[in-house]
Amino acid sequence: MDIKVIAFDADDTLWVNEPYFRRTEEAFCELMGGYLSQHDIERELLKIEIGNLPLYGYGVKGFILSMIEAAMTISDKTISIDIVERIINLGKAVLDEPIELLDGVEEVLTALKGKYRLVVATKGDLLDQERKLRKSGLGHYFHHIEIMSEKDDANYLKLLRHLDIQPQELLMVGNSLKSDVLPVLNIGGHAVHVPYHITWAHEQIDNTIENDRFRSVENIKQVLEIL
Ligand SMILES: [Mg+2]
Repeated sequence: MDIKVIAFDADDTLWVNEPYFRRTEEAFCELMGGYLSQHDIERELLKIEIGNLPLYGYGVKGFILSMIEAAMTISDKTISIDIVERIINLGKAVLDEPIELLDGVEEVLTALKGKYRLVVATKGDLLDQERKLRKSGLGHYFHHIEIMSEKDDANYLKLLRHLDIQPQELLMVGNSLKSDVLPVLNIGGHAVHVPYHITWAHEQIDNTIENDRFRSVENIKQVLEIL
């Protein structure tokens, strides 16, 4: 391997994220519990969220709007403004969650800094991701922060051009096979999957990946053994 740049996904790779969304979804289901079963509420919300992704992109703001839209649909437009206010506050609480670094992250970044150019490649709300990075205290490890609207082949190619490197000089580390691994392998880069114990339904894929530029590890610390 001739790696020059190591790019890290942020949410559920560097720090805890998905549990906050999951907890909010549960609170939303409780709010809407009088209308449908939890399972049906979750399904309706997910459907609306995915439908809105091309309009709003990823992140908390779009999630709040999707919860309000789901509440209107589920209640057949009878939801009270009081419930809408509670949904907005549930969403704002996600923006206010503390940053909890995942095990081994600082150790890995410390070991790699100076040897490779380290980059963050994440999607989500620009302001929210900037705030999380600042709160994380990890900013000084990184040469560049890329906040992408979608983690697809085209945007990874754009990142390569920006960094002025060849595909085989990039190693991407992340928890999502769909966003952090598959597009990077597609463009000729290397990828390491570090699974997190919960994954948003929209990020889940079924196929197994066989590629000599791909590795899966249990803990981010094992990235050091690969290099
Ligand atoms: Mg992630």
